[in-house]
Amino acid sequence: MKSTKYIFITGGVVSSLGKGIVAASIGRLLKARGLNVGIMKFDPYINVDAGTMNPYQHGEVFVTMDGAETDLDLGHYERFIGVDLSGLNNVTTGKIYSEVIRKERAGEFLGATVQVIPHITDTIKNSIRKVATVGNLDVLIVEVGGTVGDIEGLPFLEAIRQFRREEPRNNTISIHLTLVPFLSTTGEAKTKPTQHSVKELRSLGIQPDVIMLRSHIALPAEIKEKVALFCDVRPEAVFDVVDAPSIYHVPLMLEKKGVGRLIMKYLYGEDRHANLSDWQALVEREDNASGTVKIAIVGKYVELPDAYLSVVEAIKHASIHHGVKPEIIWVQAEKLETEDPARYLGDVDGVIIPGGFGTRGIEGKINALTYTREHGIPTLGLCLGMQCMVIEFARNVCGLEGANSSEFDEKTPHPVIDLIPEQRGISDKGGTMRLGGYTCNLVEGTKVKELYGTDSVVERHRHRYEFNNDYREIIEEHGLKVAGVYLPMNLVEVVELENHPFYIGSQFHPEFNSKPLSPHPLFLGLIDAILKQKT
Ligand code: GLN
Repeated sequence: MKSTKYIFITGGVVSSLGKGIVAASIGRLLKARGLNVGIMKFDPYINVDAGTMNPYQHGEVFVTMDGAETDLDLGHYERFIGVDLSGLNNVTTGKIYSEVIRKERAGEFLGATVQVIPHITDTIKNSIRKVATVGNLDVLIVEVGGTVGDIEGLPFLEAIRQFRREEPRNNTISIHLTLVPFLSTTGEAKTKPTQHSVKELRSLGIQPDVIMLRSHIALPAEIKEKVALFCDVRPEAVFDVVDAPSIYHVPLMLEKKGVGRLIMKYLYGEDRHANLSDWQALVEREDNASGTVKIAIVGKYVELPDAYLSVVEAIKHASIHHGVKPEIIWVQAEKLETEDPARYLGDVDGVIIPGGFGTRGIEGKINALTYTREHGIPTLGLCLGMQCMVIEFARNVCGLEGANSSEFDEKTPHPVIDLIPEQRGISDKGGTMRLGGYTCNLVEGTKVKELYGTDSVVERHRHRYEFNNDYREIIEEHGLKVAGVYLPMNLVEVVELENHPFYIGSQFHPEFNSKPLSPHPLFLGLIDAILKQKT
């Protein structure tokens, strides 16, 4: 078995500093050096996974291929290191405690008093080693959610302290990311919050090896030297991380500062050649993009764009590929229930109806779809968006009055979207949807198949309801064609409208599979259709 190296990343002063992007970027720098890199995240909340959390609280729920409902940072990791992660890569307090309590009930602790130390901390340490072993990793980056000093984060930090002691000295490093506020009144960048945060971390037995200072301005050498002195870190290991023009610049920005080189020196004693040419080309393409495509996202949580993070990134990937800049117009679906969709969608180039749950805004999404279907506006429906396409088409084209999903109207005369049989009788909410990767066979002669260029694809799912096959014939006869099917259960996975520039809906979430270096075919198709229409 190879000996894995570990990088622990903690945050201080405030949250939302972009720790996930920094972790993902460091991952890219190490991957560029030919290393097999994994990244995992600790989320110290008590939920077993992110699946039961409101998007307003937590942003998007990112779904892995193996069907775990995880933190959105896992999406960043996958996109930056170009690897599909699994449920093992997101560990919560809820998961750790469930495991320990299950073992206690099974009598596996042989009469011991079950305690935070060692039982909880052992379970946390095992979760790290498991990811390293399963992935046969050279380096595992472990990001700790929240900020140092949070009560709920303590067992994780204690586990990391123990872990570092158990490993040979050069096998682990600790990186602490903080904020250096700039006081415009005195024109000064202040290091005191960082000093306090590092003091807190050291009081828990973790001495950082590297300190990264998030700042709006480039920090002068004296500031970094001061941090080095007060926090007992070498001056060359203190970096400023200023705001980047886009997240995809961050790996190159860190590489330029020597972050990759220093980490390699600490872990391996010497650096290796880093091949970042593909990433460099990506960023150049993004910087040189010209012309804009205006894409409206009609959704329920549009006040918090993080709720649709992967959708936005997938739009970016496809736009970069086509050399254009996307402009995203956020439209609150509820507004379209009473107002004319032309007011919001009259001048957009394309529309996406993303996934979602519950009744709020549904009729607005359906009105938006009537508008884009009738006006030939390129439209992509994702999961709930696809379901709305089917409902809209059934009502307004097939004449099935009152057609609906039984999620929104249990008594609908035409449940064109209905519970998947295997979902009937399930009452637990956590982890019980149809989740993760399933193979979709693409139908010959469809635009969708042409876009993918293959016979079948594996795409990620997160839903309970599905196209009702009782209505397949009438819907297809009227021109909304089935373009992909999950054969073992004969489930409709993709639909597309005939005689429309681009009107495609997928029951799966293609956005989770899009990566900057390999944009998703359906998003590429959407942008392509928009560009064709513009010329
Ligand atoms: N609410 C719908 C379902 O459960 C769609 C889910 C989604 O968009 N992720 O089937």
